Amino acid sequence: MSDAQSESEVNATPDVPIAIAILPGEPKSPTPDGPIAWWRAMFGPWFYMFRPSKCGFAVSRSPWFGMLSILLGSGLIGATSVLLFVLDGLRYHNWSLSVNNTQQVSERTFVESWSMLATPEFSPVVTTIVILVFAVVWGLVGSIVLGWTLLPVVHRFGGAFRSYLRSVVVAGAVVGPASVLVAAIGSLVVLVNDMREQRWATGTQELWYEEYLEGGTVWLGFLAAGLLFFWLVRAGIGARTTDVLPLQPLRCDECGYDLTHVSADGRCSECGIATAHSLDLSARRVGVEWETSVTLASWLGANRTLVFQPTAFYQQLTMRKGEGYAFRFAFWNCIAIGVASCVSILGMFIKEERNFGIDEFVGVTSFGFLVPCIVAWAINFVVGAIACVFALFWRIVPVFAHVSKVLQYESSFLLVIWIYFMGLAWTLVLFDDWMTKFLRDFLGVYFFSAELIFVLISVPALLIIWLRRIRRAMMLTRWSNF
Ligand SMILES: [Zn+2]
Repeated sequence: MSDAQSESEVNATPDVPIAIAILPGEPKSPTPDGPIAWWRAMFGPWFYMFRPSKCGFAVSRSPWFGMLSILLGSGLIGATSVLLFVLDGLRYHNWSLSVNNTQQVSERTFVESWSMLATPEFSPVVTTIVILVFAVVWGLVGSIVLGWTLLPVVHRFGGAFRSYLRSVVVAGAVVGPASVLVAAIGSLVVLVNDMREQRWATGTQELWYEEYLEGGTVWLGFLAAGLLFFWLVRAGIGARTTDVLPLQPLRCDECGYDLTHVSADGRCSECGIATAHSLDLSARRVGVEWETSVTLASWLGANRTLVFQPTAFYQQLTMRKGEGYAFRFAFWNCIAIGVASCVSILGMFIKEERNFGIDEFVGVTSFGFLVPCIVAWAINFVVGAIACVFALFWRIVPVFAHVSKVLQYESSFLLVIWIYFMGLAWTLVLFDDWMTKFLRDFLGVYFFSAELIFVLISVPALLIIWLRRIRRAMMLTRWSNF
C-alpha cells in the first residue's frame, strides 16, 4: 500500500477512538498503588485467610512486611510441628511394661516429652532451634519456587523482576492457611495415635471407622495441598487488582502495526488484512462460546477446538476480559482428569479381576481422583511458568496480561498428555505378555527398560510440543485490541 493512500486514510478518519479504556470489564480508572498499613501486610496471611485475593493485595503492597510474614508463618509451622511432636509423646506405648494387651501405655510430662527431641549430640533446645531454622529456610525456598509458578498470574506489564518479587511474597503468604492446616491435620494425627494407644491400654476392640483414619488423614493432606494451590491463584489475582492494563494504541491483530490513524474499513498498510478484523469486535474476535455459556457442551467444544484448530480458537478469543473463564476452564480440565483417572484405575482393577472390598474401593476412588487432579493443576502451572520465562526472553508479548489467559486455555493439552499416558498404561495392561515376548525375542530388551526409555523420550517431546503450542497461542493473541 502506497504512502499517499495511507495518508488519505489518515485524513479520512482523524479520530479513531482509543477503545481500550472503555471496554467492558475493565476498571474505569486506575487506583494508585498506595501504601498499606504494615500490620495488614504482616498479618494478612491470617487476617485475610478466607479472602485470598485481599491477602495477595495486602502483602504485595507492602512487600517487606510481607516477607516478614513468610518468616513468621514458616517459623510458626516449625513451632507447631515441635508442639505436635511433644503432644504426641505425652502418652506412649511402653513395650517394657508387659506383653499382654493391657497396661502398656505410660504417660510423660510436657517437659519429658519435649526432651525426647534430644539426639546423642544435641540437647532438645538445639534440636528445636534447628527445626525452626529449617522451617524458615524451607518457607523462603518454597516461596521462591512457588512465586515463579505464580509469575504469569501476577505479572501484567513493566519490570518482570519487580513482578517476581511480588509473586514471591504472595506465594509466601500461603503460610497463613498452611499453618492452620498443619495444626489441624497434625492434631488429628495426634488424636488418632492417642486413641489407638488408649485402646491398647484398655484392650478394647477397634472401632469400624478406625481403619480409615490413617488413610483419611493422608487424603486430607492432599486435599489441603489442593486447596492451598487454589488459594495461591486467588492471592496472585489479588496482587494485581489495581494494575489496569496499560493503554495502548489500536493495533493490527495480525502484525501489530499501529492502526490509530487508519480507517476502520481499510486495510493494514503493513500486512494487508482488513482493519475491521482488528477494530471490529464482530469481525474476528467474536469471543468463544465457553465465555458466554459455561456448559459441559461448550467445555467439550472449547477443548476440541483448542486441540485440533488452535488458530481458529485464539483468533476468536477476546483477551482483555473474561480471564476468570480461562481459570475455570483449566479447573474443569483438572477435575475431568481426576474423574477420568479414577474411572481408568477402577477399570484396571476390574480387568485384573481383583476382589476388592469397600475400603479398598473408597481408597482407590478418593486417591485416584484427588492425586491426578492436583498433579495436573501443578503441571499446568509449572509448564506455564517455563513458558512465561520464554515469553519474557523472547519479548514477543507486549501485553503480558494475555499470557495468563492463554496458559489457562492451554490446559487442554493436559488432556492430550493424559490420554497419551493412559493409552500407554492400558496397552501395558492389555498386551503385557505379548509385548514382553516381542521385546525380548525381537529387540532383545527387557520390558522394564523399554518402558523407561519410552517414557524418557515421551516426556521431553510432549513438553516441547506443549511449549510450541503456547508460543503459537501467544503469537496469535499478542496484538489483540479486545
Ligand atoms: Zn497488519
